[in-house]
Amino acid sequence: MPTIDPPGGTLVDLRVDGSAVDALRGEARHLPKLAVSDRELSDLELLAVGALSPLTGFQGEADYHSVLETMHLSDGLAWSIPVTLSVDEDGAHRLGGADAVALTGSGSEAEPLAVLRIAEIFKRDRAKEAQAVFGTEDDAHPGVQALQQAGDRCVAGTLEVLDLPPHDDFLEYRLTPSQTRAEFERRGWRTVVGFQTRNPIHRAHEYLQKCALEIVDGLLVHPLVGATKADDVPPDVRMRCYEALFAGYYPKDRAMVSVFPAAMRYAGPKEAIWHAICRKNYGCTHLIVGRDHAGVGDYYGTYEAQEIFERFEPGELGITPLRFEHSFWCNRCEGMASPKTCPHSEEDRVSLSGTKVREMLREGERPPREFSRPEVADILIEAMRGGA
Ligand SMILES: [Zn+2]
Repeated sequence: MPTIDPPGGTLVDLRVDGSAVDALRGEARHLPKLAVSDRELSDLELLAVGALSPLTGFQGEADYHSVLETMHLSDGLAWSIPVTLSVDEDGAHRLGGADAVALTGSGSEAEPLAVLRIAEIFKRDRAKEAQAVFGTEDDAHPGVQALQQAGDRCVAGTLEVLDLPPHDDFLEYRLTPSQTRAEFERRGWRTVVGFQTRNPIHRAHEYLQKCALEIVDGLLVHPLVGATKADDVPPDVRMRCYEALFAGYYPKDRAMVSVFPAAMRYAGPKEAIWHAICRKNYGCTHLIVGRDHAGVGDYYGTYEAQEIFERFEPGELGITPLRFEHSFWCNRCEGMASPKTCPHSEEDRVSLSGTKVREMLREGERPPREFSRPEVADILIEAMRGGA
């Protein structure tokens, strides 16, 4: 019994199989090639496995502008961030009148991963895109930076995928949307809350997940493992933290970890919607949206990523955001709490800034156990030592 339908009703799968593979591989050999950046390769993977259903390829100009202007595809479905494939002027010229192109990774020996049937090549409106997606054109913003580095033109069309981009890590955690859906069904979960993260999980986020788990059947911790900022904790270290947490503190039959192969945009509210749409494809019925979801610096208001859900009609997104405050251990409540549940003052609460926590870990010191599980702290301390 499916937990929730994908946006548009059908879970897309762009991978070709059977005898079609050899034919497509043969065709790809004779096509012009385009090396895809790591960020766009993450999108290719998401598209291939249906995490971006109903999209069947990189978006064209009508959808691009419709998404930027209205947060909807031109056919009316909710969509908050364009999914495009960049090419510079030279590249566009090289493609000339070709009606298909073979997409490869960045290595010079890279084999074609997919064939894109070119529908159009259009000019990116960088300023409009930066404002609409990131709310700023400031090139100190990591998302704007990535946009500045992307080509001026976008190649749009449907994809036929030969192979997913190769990975050598987290192989047992790389479940596709149809696989997470099957796993939810096997476990008998009708309602599933997704938790997006690009950070180690401390007590505060563990608490939010467990509050959510009190009201739904299952929890999917879904760490993003595509490109992030250089100063974010690397995914392999984070994964060891999640494993330690799961081993010690999570009920195995009600919680699972799988990875989300997307690149981080740092688009705050727009990315919260995008994350929700993607997680709906993975079968989640609920998504935890905390303060400053997918934010960076002080580009977004604390609650903007929660408020943006109000801009859709009730039921339009289908997935339900669970809006949370920041949480903490309170010495007088003698438990985890948030401003919604704890009447006490700051002095009674154990709260540490990110900077303070990093400083403690770097010095080999565990943050208080009310802030971070010791098993998690030890992994982070070890990683900091290795990196020093
Ligand atoms: Zn309290």
